[in-house]
Amino acid sequence: MQDFQHEKARLFMTLRGLGVVEANVLSAMERVPRELFVPTALNQHAYENASLPIALEQTISQPYIVARMTAALELTGRERVLEIGSGSGYQAAILSFLCRRVYSIERLRPLLVEAENRFRKLRITNVTSKYGDGAKGWPEGAPFDRVILTCAPPEIPAILLNQLKTGGIMVAPEGRDREQSLVVIRRTEEGFERQELLPVRFVPLVEG
Ligand code: SAH
Repeated sequence: MQDFQHEKARLFMTLRGLGVVEANVLSAMERVPRELFVPTALNQHAYENASLPIALEQTISQPYIVARMTAALELTGRERVLEIGSGSGYQAAILSFLCRRVYSIERLRPLLVEAENRFRKLRITNVTSKYGDGAKGWPEGAPFDRVILTCAPPEIPAILLNQLKTGGIMVAPEGRDREQSLVVIRRTEEGFERQELLPVRFVPLVEG
């Protein structure tokens, strides 16, 4: 089996060059073999700093964006994190090394099944995943210390904001088609503080 050592080293140099400095994020990303999360035919591209198609017209995010989103969550290892849009499971796998437990929701069953197989294969046991509409969040598990969306709603649903703890952080793409930005929302005693990080392009959050 190919170990992609050279390609990996190059990707991590690229990420550092782009300003990703968070050591915990980089080391979690180094522990997750991205080639296992992309279609076999795209294996050779697994360590390019690019988003790649998975199945059912969905994509695995660009490593730089994964790094920025993960860093923005400011994880310490103790958090319970809700993820909307399991997709390949790549982002959840990275989070699993940085927090206590990940709760991940996916609305396309075949993707969820494959993601769960990958968690098993990698012996990742602190990801709980379920099939369903992430727009409704995970009421039984709420409130969460962190929430991450990897699909873009036109506007962050209030239901999801309400499942975030006071003192918690949400990271999400927001907006329609070509006009999305990555937003970081902090819930404080007073309400929600919002910060826009950078323009992004994610697949849409589809309700239902
Ligand atoms: N985090 C993923 C990225 C997946 S792309 C990874 O690391 O690979 C976004 C995913 O969000 C897609 O799989 C899509 O099916 C899913 N999605 C879109 N709308 C959703 C919804 N309402 N509930 C749950 N998942 C949704």
